[in-house]
Amino acid sequence: MAAPESVAESRAEEPETGEASAPIQLFATAADALAAVRADIGDCTRCKLHTLGRRQVVFGVGNPDADLMFVGEAPGADEDIQGIPFVGRAGQLLTKIIEAINLQRDDVYIANVIKCRPPQNRNPEQDEVDTCEPFLFQQIDLIKPKVIVALGTFAARALLRTLDPISRLRGRVYDYRGAKLIPTFHPAYLLRNPSSKREVWEDMKVARKLLADEQIQNSKLKIQK
Ligand code: URA
Repeated sequence: MAAPESVAESRAEEPETGEASAPIQLFATAADALAAVRADIGDCTRCKLHTLGRRQVVFGVGNPDADLMFVGEAPGADEDIQGIPFVGRAGQLLTKIIEAINLQRDDVYIANVIKCRPPQNRNPEQDEVDTCEPFLFQQIDLIKPKVIVALGTFAARALLRTLDPISRLRGRVYDYRGAKLIPTFHPAYLLRNPSSKREVWEDMKVARKLLADEQIQNSKLKIQK
C-alpha cells in the first residue's frame, strides 16, 4: 500500500481537563485529523458553558491547509445558531477584510479561542479558556498556518499569554507555534469605531506581504530541487 502523501498527527482522546496527553494517531490529511478533533470534542460538557444556554459547539470553518488563520474570541448569538464562526455582522465585516487581500473565506481557516457561546456574550472566564484552548492549539498545529491574525484583545491576550491591551500589542509581528502572529482589532470593535479600519488595513497588508514572501520562498525551493 502506498504511504500517505502527508501525515497529520492528532490525539486520540482528551482527558477531563481537555489537556492533550493521549496517544498520537496518524491521519492522511489535516482535514481528517481536524475531523477527529471535532469528533473528540463531541457535544462538549467539559466546562460550565454547556449548562449556560449554548446551543452547540462552534468548532471552526475553512481550508484545513490554509496559510492564513483567523482566531476570534467566542461565538455570538448568530454563530451559536448556525454552528459557524463569524457569520453575524462582525463576521460579514471579517469576510470583507479577507476579500480586501484578494482571498475568499474558503481559502482561510477561522476559529475561536472558546468554542461555545458565553451567556449574554460576556467575556470568557479563565476556567473556560483553560478547558477549551487546547483544542485551538490542536487546530493550529494541524493546519500549520504561515500567518495567524488574532482578532481583538481577548484572542491576542489568550494566545500571547499577556495582559497588554490590543492597542499595545498590534503593530508588531510575533513568532507563535511556527507561524507569524499579527494581532489586530476585532471586527465588532470596527463596527463601533470605523476609524480604526485604517490600522486593520495596515495589519492585513503585513499579513499579505508575509504570505507572499512565503510563497516566493517555496517556489525558490522547488526550482532548486
Ligand atoms: N466574535 C468572535 O470573536 N467570534 C465569532 O465567531 C463571532 C463574533
